[in-house]
Amino acid sequence: MRTLETLSGGEWVATGEWIDVHDPSDLRTPVARVPAMSAADVARAYDHAEQGFATWKRTSPFERARIMTDAARLLRERVGRIAEDVSTEMGKTRAEATGETIKAADFLEYYAGVARQGYGTLLHDARPETRTSYQREPLGVVLLITPWNDPLITPARKLAPCLAAGNAAILKPATDTPQSALHLARALHDAGLPAGVLNVVTGRGAQISDPLIADSRLRALSFTGSNEVGEALRAQLAATGVRFQGELGGKNATVVLADADLAAAAKAVANAGFAQAGQRCTATSRVIVQRPVYDEFSRLLLAEAAALRLGPGLAEGTTMGPLVSARQRDGVLADIERAVKQGASVLAGGDRPADEALGHGCYVTPTVLGDVTADLDIWREEVFGPVVALYPVDTFEEAVEAVNDSVFGLAAAVFTKDLGNAYRFTDEAECGQIAVNTTTSGWDVHHPFGGFRDSGSPFKEQGEEALRFYTRVKTVAIHFGA
Ligand code: NAD
Repeated sequence: MRTLETLSGGEWVATGEWIDVHDPSDLRTPVARVPAMSAADVARAYDHAEQGFATWKRTSPFERARIMTDAARLLRERVGRIAEDVSTEMGKTRAEATGETIKAADFLEYYAGVARQGYGTLLHDARPETRTSYQREPLGVVLLITPWNDPLITPARKLAPCLAAGNAAILKPATDTPQSALHLARALHDAGLPAGVLNVVTGRGAQISDPLIADSRLRALSFTGSNEVGEALRAQLAATGVRFQGELGGKNATVVLADADLAAAAKAVANAGFAQAGQRCTATSRVIVQRPVYDEFSRLLLAEAAALRLGPGLAEGTTMGPLVSARQRDGVLADIERAVKQGASVLAGGDRPADEALGHGCYVTPTVLGDVTADLDIWREEVFGPVVALYPVDTFEEAVEAVNDSVFGLAAAVFTKDLGNAYRFTDEAECGQIAVNTTTSGWDVHHPFGGFRDSGSPFKEQGEEALRFYTRVKTVAIHFGA
């Protein structure tokens, strides 16, 4: 078992107490341990971040960009090792973990470029001989709380714009998957990030949650995770003036209209539903199919599900890894069982694999459910596992109504050859991300990203939009007349 230290104040530190990290393909032996930090350690991280901010806000954007570009290069150079750790702690396949590492580097490179761009705008002024402008400034110390499903990209998605804008960060990775975030911190540290600009807090929620949220030096929290936790944090911060960005749950739908390329649609749904074992916020979990093609589409989707090969993420030939933990696996199996009790039928999967070699892992077979109606929990609640529910409709209007029949609004897709229906769908679907003839997931670093309704908050991530969250606007008037 490897022992990892965490980054605080520019030093790699241990605390004397540890949390074990497990491999979800075989839970028997922990693979690593990381420091279990205390409330006092969190307070120290804030001290360091405050000092780091004083340095970083005065560091030129060119130097910030240089450090971020160098860190991106280090991630690319270390991709083999990092991808192994991402896969080992989270379960995703080597190919998925490699893609994640490259995309984390892409985030750093993209925002290194953005850091050099203009940061304000000139405005007319009614007063003569007066030049007025507004400029964007960093906020201060920003807390980034991330989940386990994309343990490297999600920290990178937040950290890159946060640092490009000149803020200092405290990063709290998910308890199950801290190694990936430590790789990101190591790349930035090795690239020359000044002490205190990034501090990583690893530990148990019960000990560190309150000190993280209640510190008076906190200026903004960017949170990705469950609605339960995100909404509690949003409420906790509402009275304090601390800015909150939430990327929360989803119940994403793909619509397959009768004129669609059914083979392409089935491939896309299988990819969006089963990649990363369904543990993506943008995963397709509801498939709304026009009745004339329902049977043919189901047949194609079941064939896609049957072709997946379950196994440890790093094993040759694996195309679907385990879920992240026994808790997640058991929760997903319970959701399937409840769906069946409420009237759904299992068309594929729905259980643990029979293969004894996978017996110590957190596997759930790729699952397709039929006979799903809108009153079932499986239609409404996020599962966050490899479970896709099929739902027949007669008309385009019914399909859109079904897409919007959710408290969530993260992503939706439509498969059709009709340009009119494609455009109508983009206008009428109430989601932050809309795809036509492609998957609900897979957005680039420069595409604004975030959900409507209970899936998100007014602030988007990614692209230049992300800078709105990480900056405040100052307006300046300079009178240069006599
Ligand atoms: P979670 O809410 O349990 O945990 C998320 C993070 O919050 C973890 O780091 C966890 O340790 C921390 N946390 C938990 N309780 C806390 C508290 N009281 N105070 C401070 N921090 C606390 O979510 P999860 O199970 O790790 O992730 C899965 C969820 O994330 C799913 O609902 C999924 O949809 C969502 N998600 C959303 C997006 C998006 O962009 N919309 C992306 C990925 C995941």
